[in-house]
Amino acid sequence: MSTRLRVILALVVLSPLMHAQTPPKPAPKMTPKSLTPTQVHQSAIVIDTHADTPQRFVDENFDLADPLGRGNLNLDSIHKGNLGAEFFSIWVDPVQNKGRFAGRTFDLIDAVKQQVAKHPDQIKFVTSPEGIEQAHREHKFAALMGIEGGHSIEDSIPLLRQYYALGVRYMTLTWSNSTSWADSSGDIDDKSVPHNKEGLTEFGKDVVYEMNRLGMMVDISHVSDHTFYRTLVITRAPVIASHSDARALCDAPRNMTDDMLRAVANSGGPNSKGGVIDVNYYSAFVSQAYRDADKAQQPEVDKAVADLKAKYKADGKEAPQAEIDKLKRTFADRIPRPPLSMLIDHIDHIAKVAGVDHVGLGSDFDGVDGQLPEGLDSPADLPKITAALMARGYSAEDCRKILGGNLLRVFREVEAVSKELQAENRPRITDKQPFDKPQK
Ligand SMILES: [Zn+2]
Repeated sequence: MSTRLRVILALVVLSPLMHAQTPPKPAPKMTPKSLTPTQVHQSAIVIDTHADTPQRFVDENFDLADPLGRGNLNLDSIHKGNLGAEFFSIWVDPVQNKGRFAGRTFDLIDAVKQQVAKHPDQIKFVTSPEGIEQAHREHKFAALMGIEGGHSIEDSIPLLRQYYALGVRYMTLTWSNSTSWADSSGDIDDKSVPHNKEGLTEFGKDVVYEMNRLGMMVDISHVSDHTFYRTLVITRAPVIASHSDARALCDAPRNMTDDMLRAVANSGGPNSKGGVIDVNYYSAFVSQAYRDADKAQQPEVDKAVADLKAKYKADGKEAPQAEIDKLKRTFADRIPRPPLSMLIDHIDHIAKVAGVDHVGLGSDFDGVDGQLPEGLDSPADLPKITAALMARGYSAEDCRKILGGNLLRVFREVEAVSKELQAENRPRITDKQPFDKPQK
């Protein structure tokens, strides 16, 4: 036997042993780089947690099949950008609708349902994570609803329950106005507005508890810092910020400090996987430079609006809101739009501070007068976000989490907590509630 043959034989005999000693090599996996950004985006269930389009449905008779016009969201752009689900914002202007918050809330809820009824082949009304996935399988756009502003419940837990029954699946505890039970970041420095010491009153705590019990996501966008922390102490389910950015990058009172971002990531019970912060695309929350410029021209805007109103008043008329908005838009258009990369900076910052499992998308489309980063005008532009994230090294899996996976996880957990609380059968509700009569 030649020496060479002996070596080969020895290797053949020894090779199984050698294999036993070295750990098996991991199977070659599909590296994110092998998928293009387009493939990743198309494979994701893309979920947006905030669009104000219902205002257009009601006030402008806008239909989702219409061209965009001055708006941001329609069926065409939804299909182009593979938007899988939208939480339509049910927002009631507290000044214009004084005395009929619930009435306007119902108008907006009805308008969302009318859109679904008009386009059953393209839109599916859903109220659960499974519903979103089912719509995705049917190649339909999933429509959901979230209430923006606790004033919609008119201090009534029964009304809150009825909104849930109609399909509302999140509520921001406040909009820019404080309620009798929760404080807003929008008027926290206004001494003429009554605020409460603890951020949430006893009734406010009951509202949060009842939302947990129903399975309605608690949304902390817009609340004051104090209300935020008070809510996080008592909530049994993880919370969401449906449309907020990072205060470290743009100092808006409605954006969140790093400490708050971490707190959302740690929200919920001891076994919780934590909540999610969905980034807002509004330029004045994204870019400090834009925000400063916007603030600087505010007195000029106020004067122009006052002049317009005076002009109409002289003819005995009221200035139409559309015209006021148009005027404001001409001022906004003077400020250069921030680049899209600045929005990606917010996603990146939140992913680094709170974790990639705790960031998502909350556009605020149709709610910010078109003041959006460059090249981001409708859902049709969403693939650009995926491409930008991948260019920064985010894996396909991480992108899918950010695009909607994280929100689905939180939504599922909120439902699981709801089941637990309902099984406990000990609602911690104040004596205002019908089923909390004193025990005899
Ligand atoms: Zn908002």
